[in-house]
Amino acid sequence: MKNFRSLFGTILIITALFLGCNSNDAGNSGGNGNEFSSTQNVGDSANDFLSNSTYSSLIIEVDYVDGFQPTQGALNNLRSFLQSRLNKTSVSISLDDEIPSPGNSPYSAQEAFDIEKEFRDTYTEGNTIAAYFLILDGQFEQENVLGFAYFNTSMALLGGTIANNSGGFGQPSRETVETTVLQHEFGHILGLVGNGTPTVQDHQDEANGAHCDVDSCLMYFAVRTSDFTSNLMGGNVPELDAQCIQDLQANGGK
Ligand SMILES: [Zn+2]
Ligand SMILES: [Zn+2]
Repeated sequence: MKNFRSLFGTILIITALFLGCNSNDAGNSGGNGNEFSSTQNVGDSANDFLSNSTYSSLIIEVDYVDGFQPTQGALNNLRSFLQSRLNKTSVSISLDDEIPSPGNSPYSAQEAFDIEKEFRDTYTEGNTIAAYFLILDGQFEQENVLGFAYFNTSMALLGGTIANNSGGFGQPSRETVETTVLQHEFGHILGLVGNGTPTVQDHQDEANGAHCDVDSCLMYFAVRTSDFTSNLMGGNVPELDAQCIQDLQANGGK
């Protein structure tokens, strides 16, 4: 009897933990009633973003720290970029919460996720897959980094570092730098390079992780840092090279 009671107690605790997990909004039902988790690794949902087999629409929620609202031009450019590569009938971007400064710069990926949990409203549901951008003030732990992707649908931009490297004399415009970083980080969500979307030809710069070895490509490793911003003068946002496009097309994109 005593053993039975403790087993029953254990079952109750396990059930409570399960309910606790479900209530944090990290997992939601999407596509054909399947459970969709928004805490998978970067690149794990590449095919869901690229193809239209499960999700026909994409919505992107953008939350930003007060003073770091991204330019409308950069958001428009991101939308055009995704429309040209993803098999989705609609791509929409929702500029959502303006949030007070967390005051925690330099930020870690864990801190970005903690803020996301508090402010993110849009998750994958039905036929619509959702992605999330958080625009932080301040900088990342590695101070020249302009943005990072941290889960299968989650990305952050370092608004402070971007502001310090754009809009001034001899610097590219804020819109150009934001466009470049938004598109580069989304490239990681799309599984580039060799991280969720297989490479058709060998062009992964393995020494620098999931990046492309073509130095003019959007997915070149230095694109994510302030070391690269002088290359963006005149509004030259780097484009995906032919090999990156071929990879996306082979994994359901266009
Ligand atoms: Zn990168
Ligand atoms: Zn490339």
